[in-house]
Amino acid sequence: MIKRNKNFEKLTAGYLFPEIAKRRREYSAKNPNAKIISLGIGNTTEPLTTHISKAMSDYVLSLGTVEGYSGYGDEQGNTALREKIAEVYYKGYATADEVFISDGAKCDIARIQTLFGNKVKIAVQDPAYPVYVDGSVVIGATGSANVQGNGYKSVFYLPCLPENNFFPDLSKIKKNSLIYFCSPNNPTGATSTKEELTKLVDFAKLNGCIIIFDAAYSAFIRDESLPKTIYEIPGSREVAIEVNSFSKPAGFTGVRLGWSIVPNELKFADGTSVNKDWNRVMTTLFNGASNIAQAGGLAALDDDGLREMKGLVDYYLENARIIANALKNDKFKKAGVEVYFTGNAPYLWVRFPGLKSWEVFDKILDQCHVVTTPGAGFGPAGKSFIRFSSFGHRENVEEAAKRLVEKLNLY
Ligand SMILES: *Cc1c(COP(=O)(O)O)cnc(C)c1O
Repeated sequence: MIKRNKNFEKLTAGYLFPEIAKRRREYSAKNPNAKIISLGIGNTTEPLTTHISKAMSDYVLSLGTVEGYSGYGDEQGNTALREKIAEVYYKGYATADEVFISDGAKCDIARIQTLFGNKVKIAVQDPAYPVYVDGSVVIGATGSANVQGNGYKSVFYLPCLPENNFFPDLSKIKKNSLIYFCSPNNPTGATSTKEELTKLVDFAKLNGCIIIFDAAYSAFIRDESLPKTIYEIPGSREVAIEVNSFSKPAGFTGVRLGWSIVPNELKFADGTSVNKDWNRVMTTLFNGASNIAQAGGLAALDDDGLREMKGLVDYYLENARIIANALKNDKFKKAGVEVYFTGNAPYLWVRFPGLKSWEVFDKILDQCHVVTTPGAGFGPAGKSFIRFSSFGHRENVEEAAKRLVEKLNLY
């Protein structure tokens, strides 16, 4: 028989979200009358908007005609969509030939790991979106040793806490590392300033590092002074790949459409072009994003589409404000609960001093019938934090906020 890929054994205790789903199921089985509301998973809840969904539906119908039919398209994506993304999001920063359309940011992150292989050292913000570490583990980029202490031998965790304003100590990063950096951040919501990102880019340049900049929440940035793309930072084109997605701003979590930017100036140690190899990855291992999804993406970027996306994002940001207000209640303040909500991301990151995150998770589920996400699932630095997600219908969010105020007793 064929042997199991040993790297799978090195994945730490189950993936976060299946564990949450399991605890919720078990709780429901024991308490069948509990009306559970989820502020847990980062999945969108509001319907596709009319202009964008109509564009996709029209496109599907045209595929049913001789004139409108098309099969495989360019693996890098429709030229019109690549041009539109470059124009809308990267004017003066990146060009259409540097835009690669994909089936989503998470999938691109997994493919990016094949681009750099398993000998590379990895630095991640702690806490972080799980795929940066887990995807690296699966391809064997853990170093020789197995799980040790906080994680893996060649994965370096960079604590991001209120104490350092959620910006890591870059001196902990080894030379020639791949640095995963997410801003606005999932799970903390922290959004780095121009000065902070300049430090990051300068560090990468000086130390031979490449930044994988995850900008999946850039559409949530409302503070005009904060950079929406890493390419606003001078010098970044030599050191950074950016991944982004229609998932959160357009509700495309199920439709599947994202993109990556690989600048022409980005080079490997031997001087060869990263863009060239990325083109190879996309043409060899990927066969192009759905043409239906791309029709939706194109519609999302015209005036009506942009207005609709802004409406969706505003809705979730308002949900986040409702949850923040509930958690800023006197009862929690007196107990020392710290609420971090930036207004530039759909998540709230909340510290419950003296408690472990899974413990808080269980208590909120038990007392309020609300599902959250324990911070420990995102990395060691999340251990006394809970992530509250604002993805939900307004009436559910309001009801959950009310229950938190009226029912939650943690201390
Ligand atoms: C949701 C999310 C993504 C988006 O992934 P898709 O595969 O495009 O749906 C990427 N990065 C982070 C940090 C996310 O939270």
